[in-house]
Amino acid sequence: MSETSLAPAGIGREWPASDIAALLAAAEKHRLAGDYRAGSVAAREAAAHAEAAGDRAAGAAALRLLAAQLMRLGALEEAVVAGREAAAVLEALGDDGGVCQVLTEGSLALNDLGMHEEALAALADARDIAQRLGDRGLLYWVHNRTGCVHGTMGNRELSAAFLTKALTMTDGLDSDARFCILNNLGDNAVYEVARLREVGRAEDAERALSEALGYITEALGLARGSGNPFREAIALDNYGMLLGLAGDFESAEGLIEQARTIAERQGYDSLESSTWEHRARIRLMRGDYRAAIKKLHVALDRGLAIGEKPSVMEIHRQLSSAYEKVGDAASALAHYRLFHDLEREARNDVAAVRARMAVHSFELDNARLDADTARMETEQHRLRAAELEADNLSWQRQATEDALTGLPNRRFADLRLPQLIAAGPVCVALADVDLFKGVNDRYGHPVGDEVLRRIAVLLRDDVREGDLVARFGGEEFLIALSAIGTDDAWARCEALRAEIAAYPWAQVQDGLSVTISLGLAAVDAGVDAALAVADERLYEAKRSGRNRVVAG
Ligand code: GH3
Ligand code: MG
Ligand code: MG
Repeated sequence: MSETSLAPAGIGREWPASDIAALLAAAEKHRLAGDYRAGSVAAREAAAHAEAAGDRAAGAAALRLLAAQLMRLGALEEAVVAGREAAAVLEALGDDGGVCQVLTEGSLALNDLGMHEEALAALADARDIAQRLGDRGLLYWVHNRTGCVHGTMGNRELSAAFLTKALTMTDGLDSDARFCILNNLGDNAVYEVARLREVGRAEDAERALSEALGYITEALGLARGSGNPFREAIALDNYGMLLGLAGDFESAEGLIEQARTIAERQGYDSLESSTWEHRARIRLMRGDYRAAIKKLHVALDRGLAIGEKPSVMEIHRQLSSAYEKVGDAASALAHYRLFHDLEREARNDVAAVRARMAVHSFELDNARLDADTARMETEQHRLRAAELEADNLSWQRQATEDALTGLPNRRFADLRLPQLIAAGPVCVALADVDLFKGVNDRYGHPVGDEVLRRIAVLLRDDVREGDLVARFGGEEFLIALSAIGTDDAWARCEALRAEIAAYPWAQVQDGLSVTISLGLAAVDAGVDAALAVADERLYEAKRSGRNRVVAG
């Protein structure tokens, strides 16, 4: 059996309930300890909590952990589905490395489902990403997995090529990576050695066998060091099979029995089935066909009980040849037929799984489409809200600001004046452009507008903190001067008047000159009364010749 787990990075270890991070940590802890039943429960719970909390990154991490552990428990379709969902989320999050890992991990479940083309396609996508990212670690896993898939497809030589290549890439990777590749090389060699012997390449077979024994011894050491019983069991099983090929049947059976005991204790059902089958195979190697047949029947019952069709099929094939060896032609034929039926059934099964997966992909695409639509709608709402806010802002501005000059408008002045007065003594001045109608008439309204804008700038530049300048009407401005006596207020109004009269208006329009008249009043008996007085004085300023300040 091959080992192909990938370690998700950066997950902690505490476990207070209902905390997503803690659930993820627990799922990862169980995964590392080989307790895939507890691990998949924690991962499923983490995925549900993450979804409820809208935490997509945590959701993807949980689905990934779930997929990895469901695969170990033989729930292959569910594993593929969880992996695909994780990939979709990671893709949406722009986590290319994560997508690459999930594709790589998912390829094994696809492969075990008999969907070899899909597995290789997922690995091709993963390889593209790994190469684009220039990530050696990711590329290592892609090579490792690609080797495994070619192996199951029966191309042991190509498998060995990929696995050996992956072995050269483990520098700097963790012992998890090193264990997996060593164990997979050992696993592949079990088939490759037998094949090389069958085609008469005895020397190549022996070389491959001695290399593989080196790999598997190192793998077993790493497995024991990691304390992961799944790893220990598969390494023991593979080591046993290799020793069987080397002719050391006693040791072989002992190791495989150790593997079986661990698998039984931990609930690794499909691994336990293969240990039964492997013990039978060692018996076949020894020429002890009767014992082999007995063990094959145990393996067959177990395989049937847990619905492991690929191993059941293989067991029928082996039973057929074992019965043939002992001269029981009828049983040999019966098992051959069963093998043949199952082989046909397996093809149909793959087609059915493919169909279910296609439905799932379709649903996932729809879900993705819905998510995209929801995202787009949210974005549209956000834009609309921003637009409204902008509208609202300009509306608010319109309410308090004069569009032509940008000065506060009369409404704002009406609100602000009582506040100014409450804070201390205030003088108000009303300023009106002299003979402004003539400016419009002679030079046109745009020039009139420009005059108003420039006067607004000159007035605003002159105000101090606590003062207020507003456009009060057409060509009329309000100036409120706070914390100032009437004499000083007059002086400031006079300075403004002089400044405007001296302004180089000819720059705006040849021949243009502009003056203003001002009426000034101290506010002592309310704003309206003061404004009325100021207006009166303004009228007086006009009457007495314009371009002047009247302060009573
Ligand atoms: P006086 O010195 O007596 O104030 O003479 P006047 O011509 O300024 O006074 P009158 O009230 O007769 O004319 C005011 C003119 O101001 C009339 C109007 O067309 C013009 N006016 C008011 N608001 C605007 C504006 O926003 N832009 C322009 N270009 N003209 C405006
Ligand atoms: Mg005027
Ligand atoms: Mg006027």
